[in-house]
Amino acid sequence: MQGKMKRIYLDYNATTPLKPQVYEAMVPYFKELYGNPSSIHWAGQAGKEALMVAREKVANLFHVDPQEVVFTSGGTEANNLALKGVFGVFQKKWQKKGRHIITTQVEHKSILECCDYLKKQGAEISYISVHPNGQIHLEELKAQIRPDTILISVQAANNETGVLMPLKEISDIAQAHNILFHVDAVQMAGKKALFLDELPMDLVSISSHKIYGPKGAGALIIRRALKLEALLHGGNQERKRRGGTENVPAIVGFGTACEWAQKESASEAQRLEELRNKLEEGIFATIPQSLIHGKDSPRVSNTLNVSFKGLEAEGLLLNLDLKGIATSSGSACSSGSLDPSHVLLAMGVSPENALSSIRFSLGYQTQKEDIEFVLEVLPEMVQRLRSLNEACR
Ligand SMILES: *Cc1c(COP(=O)(O)O)cnc(C)c1O
Repeated sequence: MQGKMKRIYLDYNATTPLKPQVYEAMVPYFKELYGNPSSIHWAGQAGKEALMVAREKVANLFHVDPQEVVFTSGGTEANNLALKGVFGVFQKKWQKKGRHIITTQVEHKSILECCDYLKKQGAEISYISVHPNGQIHLEELKAQIRPDTILISVQAANNETGVLMPLKEISDIAQAHNILFHVDAVQMAGKKALFLDELPMDLVSISSHKIYGPKGAGALIIRRALKLEALLHGGNQERKRRGGTENVPAIVGFGTACEWAQKESASEAQRLEELRNKLEEGIFATIPQSLIHGKDSPRVSNTLNVSFKGLEAEGLLLNLDLKGIATSSGSACSSGSLDPSHVLLAMGVSPENALSSIRFSLGYQTQKEDIEFVLEVLPEMVQRLRSLNEACR
């Protein structure tokens, strides 16, 4: 590592650092408060108490009852529990409904690959397309609903572009047809208020490490004691909906992260929006042929996804990293070659432009100077990579 290189982390949508108060809250549960919450003695009671307090903090952030919060290992497990849990229940003999699930083309892999799995189990899946602005095609959603549709699963905010989905409209459609509605809210939680007493949803996935909590914790909010098939069998934990000894330190951290989000996320969102817009406008002003994805839609305030026509994002990513700037590209490496982001392709972006796109995601440690530094080095970097690319044609 170069000794004094500036380190600028702009990949908060991938994961976030712990807030110091989150870390402090967790420490006792690694040391003296190690009891198993299922034990009836004094050591167990401390763990049980900690779970109760954390559950209340998570519930408060979303205006739900603590009993509706089921702790999981993270967003991926919450999404799996929602989809497989609903599907499992609807396959019971006494169920009259069917095996059709509706989702979108721009979901996180933990939804899409779960759907692939469920298809092998006999599920039928419809993938709703999105407009060029990244938002779901509501007319298509309505048209795809069938008498045997059991679940609609749509993300709250997209992890690559930050685009917000019209949750109210989707919720209304789901309710009108008496279909369960699941929301992957991992990228919206802690960034924008999501109150489930105002906006009806049946199932909501959240993840601790995306909101300044530790990795290894998350939750599925299950409204009104809805019945789900459990993924993990093996104990009475989480009211038999998720067996296994609870990850108490991580859950305590998760609760603290939710508490912090409730206090500060509104002002923080505004601060980040100003920085994000500064970055966006700076890029637009200094780098020709840069294309901002989701610009015309409501977005969470910390995310900027932009493509630089005529270069490959991976090269830019590496060059930024050499300057100490951590960002990401939406492309996925599969069998040694790069696949353009499925999200951008669904928005109608050309494969070439999709492969030239970079995601900047800002967070609580991001300062004005960081954005200024990026704007200082980026234009020259883009120009150099473009001319290199040109020379190799
Ligand atoms: C990160 C992410 C997940 C997965 O959450 P993990 O806690 O990392 O398993 C799911 N959905 C979205 C939109 C995400 O950004």
